[in-house]
This record gives sequence, C-alpha cells and structure tokens, in this order.
Amino acid sequence: MQYSDSKQAQELADRAHELMEEVVLPLERERPGGMAVSSGTVADLRESAREYGVYAPQIPEAYGGMGMSFRDALPVFEEAGRSLLGAAAMRVDAPDEGNMHLLELAGDNIQKETYLEPLVQGEITSGFSMTEPLQGAGSDPKMIQTTAEKREAQGASERSGIAAEKDSAEETSATRDGDEWVIDGHKWWTSNGVEADILIVLARTDPDAHPYEGCSLFLVPSDADGVDVVRDVPHMGGGTRGTSHAEIVYENVRVPEEHLLGELNQGFTHAQERLGPARLTHCMRFSGMAQRSLEIAKAYISEREGFGSTLSDKQSLRYRIADAETRLHVARTAIRDAADRIDAGEEARIPVSMCKVFTANITQEAIDLAVQCCGANGIGKDLPLADFYEAVRTFRIVDGADEVHRRVIARDAFEGTHDEELEPLTRFGEPNTRRADGH
Ligand SMILES: Cc1cc2nc3c(=O)[nH]c(=O)nc-3n(C[C@H](O)[C@H](O)[C@H](O)COP(=O)(O)OP(=O)(O)OC[C@H]3O[C@@H](n4cnc5c(N)ncnc54)[C@H](O)[C@@H]3O)c2cc1C
Repeated sequence: MQYSDSKQAQELADRAHELMEEVVLPLERERPGGMAVSSGTVADLRESAREYGVYAPQIPEAYGGMGMSFRDALPVFEEAGRSLLGAAAMRVDAPDEGNMHLLELAGDNIQKETYLEPLVQGEITSGFSMTEPLQGAGSDPKMIQTTAEKREAQGASERSGIAAEKDSAEETSATRDGDEWVIDGHKWWTSNGVEADILIVLARTDPDAHPYEGCSLFLVPSDADGVDVVRDVPHMGGGTRGTSHAEIVYENVRVPEEHLLGELNQGFTHAQERLGPARLTHCMRFSGMAQRSLEIAKAYISEREGFGSTLSDKQSLRYRIADAETRLHVARTAIRDAADRIDAGEEARIPVSMCKVFTANITQEAIDLAVQCCGANGIGKDLPLADFYEAVRTFRIVDGADEVHRRVIARDAFEGTHDEELEPLTRFGEPNTRRADGH
C-alpha cells in the first residue's frame, strides 16, 4: 500500500527495507526460538544501520542522528517493526527512543551532552521509572508515592553523574549548600531497568499540590547509592532483544540539583511530552509487525496445499486476510494523521489514544490470524509469530491499557452531549420538538 509519505521518507524507508531484508531478517532466521541477542550483536546491527544510512533518523543531527521530522521518520519505524531486532538496529527502540526524545525536549545542554549523545550512539542505555507496585502509580498515575525532598548536600566525593563531572572539572571538593534531592520510592516495570546506565525517575516534589502540578523528573545514575535493582520481573515477550522490566527500590538516593530534568513540578507535563509521541512510535513499530505477520501468513497459505487446492484459494481465509489488510491500512492511515498533527505542534492526545487502542488490537488480531493460517508452524518458534504474539499482548497494557485510552476517547466523545441544543436529536414526534405549524 502506498501512502502520502514524502520523497525523502520513501527513500529512507527503501534503505530501511534493504537493511531488514539483507541483514536483520537473515539474523533473525539464525536465531529461532526468540533467543536473546548479545549486546555485541546489537552493536553489529547498529553498525550495519549506519552503513545503510538509517541510524537514528528521528534524532537531530546535532546529537548524532539524521534530523528527520517525526512524520518523515515514520516509515522507518514501520520497517523496523517487521522484526523484533529491527528497532534496536536502527536505534528507534523503546524505551531509549522515548527517553532520547524527552532529553532532547527537556534536557539542558550539559544533560544532553552527558546522556543524550551517548544514548544516541548506543554507548549507554536508559530506563523510565514511573509505574509503582500496589497502591502506587499505574493506570492512574496520580497515585504516585515516590517522593523527592530537597536536603542539605553531601560531599562531592559521594556525588555522581553530571555533578561529579562538574565537580572534577571545577575541582570542587567542598560540601555544597542545600541543593540535593533525596529520592525515596519503589518502582517496577522499568523497561531496560536492569541494564540501564541512567534512570529517569518521576517523583512527588510538592506533596501539597495536585500530582499533575507537584511531580518532577530526575536523572538518576543507576550506580548511585541507594538504587537497588531488585529483579527483572519475569514476563512474557521481549526475549529476542532481551529487554528487562525491572523492579527498583530507590532508598535515600541523593542527586544534585543539576539532575532535575525539565522544570520543577512539571514532571507530568514532561512525561506526557514523552509518552504521546512514544505511544505513536509504538504504533508504527507494531503496525510493521502486523504487516510482517500477514506477509508470512500469505506466503504459507499460498504454498501449502490441502483439500485439492492451495489454502490461499479457500475463501474463508482470503476474506479474513482481506479484513486484516483493511484494518492495518486504517491503522497506518490514522498513525500518519496523528504524526502530521504532532509535527504541526498539536498534542494530538485523542488521535494518539485512538491509534494506540486500535493498532494494538488489530495487530494482535493480525498475528492471531497468521498463527492460525500457519497451523502448527504458527505455534512453533521457527517462525517469529509466537514471539510477536507475546510482544503484542504487552502493547495492550504498556503506555496505558486499552481501557485507559478508551476512557480518554470517551471523555472527549461525550463532551457537549448535555447541551439542550442536542435534545432534538433524540426527540421524534414529541410536542416540544414539533414546529409551530404542527409538523
Ligand atoms: C512490557 C511492559 C513494559 C513497561 N515498561 C514500563 C516502563 O518502562 N516504565 C514504567 O514506568 N512503566 C512501564 N510499564 C508499566 C505500564 O505502563 C503499566 O503496566 C500500565 O500503565 C498499567 O498500570 P498497572 O500495571 O499498574 O495496571 P493497573 O492500574 O493495576 O490496572 C489493571 C487493569 O485494569 C484495567 N483498568 C485500569 N483502569 C481502568 C479504568 N479506568 N476503567 C476500566 N478498566 C481499567 C486495565 O485493563 C488495566 O490493565 C510497562 C508495562 C509492561 C507490560
């Protein structure tokens, strides 16, 4: 299906397609069963992506990317989603991709130099720590319990990250005055949390304010005192890339003022700036996964014979493929519309929520259909479908469960439905809607 992508975006997508066909998919085929790839393999894939000219297209050139607009980078995200290894290769992989975007938007120059540039190069990795165990932040992030309090600073020798670099640069050894934050909290499901070098932590900084006006984001080096990565929560999905989802306790973790990311008490605003586009890039990657699933299904049933013809001749399967293709086209069109809006400076909250629920569900349906079409091969792990199935199930929960996005869409849909002007819409033939002439 052709879309109204710019010439530049199409050229980029063509190169991404070549990378997928010539490098990524052959590697995927060598690793049946969703075996996790090593960090060395990921580094090799990234080197290939650089050679094909499709590395970090969404990042400004100043920080080591290709400087494409959100909309123009879109088809690359779709291509990348055709394998669980594609996004890591092209450095459009969650959660680093969203974290890089957040650093680009909210970080100051030193933060960008210290964390954004090495992240883009793949030298370090990051996690975003918002969700908490019961009864903390989850679907309702207002329930956040992690706190950050301003306290007297400790000696420079105990400081880490940006502050330690700054200290050594300035040869400062004296105790600093009241400019440290002390973070206490319990998070879980921090993707990449086990291997992350830097954790972006959301914490309450003003307990008296509404959480939306009283939380802030902090850059916490994972080796800071008091950061305890308790475990990688056992989970479905993520095997091929080996992504962890960590439970982390932050106990008396001290970070200096310089590690506040963005504005004080604006953590939710910044988080939303990260989550909106990140939800949409998830949609782009997953629609690529839906497309690949259908490619596999069509190939299998075109080759496989039964009951006197190829399975692709069976009308019942053809119609289901037709419906899946239709839904995928609708999703890809809606994603492009939302991306256009974001590029135009809109928050696009409702279109993004619509894309999130719809793409997650139609991708799950497409993968389910592909599994069915491939018979036992769909269940086996020679093909990537079983891994896709696990991955897509997580997408209906991560970054807001289906119900949470439906809630947002419904709130907007019902706005204004109590106006008196609407009464005539539901009153037929009742006296108060009859015209004076009796009609
Ligand atoms: C693979 C994966 C990766 C993740 N990565 C990260 C990460 O990097 N950083 C991070 O901070 N978090 C991460 N999360 C957490 C994720 O954002 C949360 O799981 C999600 O927001 C839901 O919160 P919860 O699990 O606490 O579910 P709960 O809040 O306990 O909700 C449980 C279920 O209740 C239903 N529900 C909730 N609200 C409503 C409602 N209003 N009406 C009807 N039904 C409702 C939904 O079906 C929901 O799934 C990740 C989760 C997964 C699965």
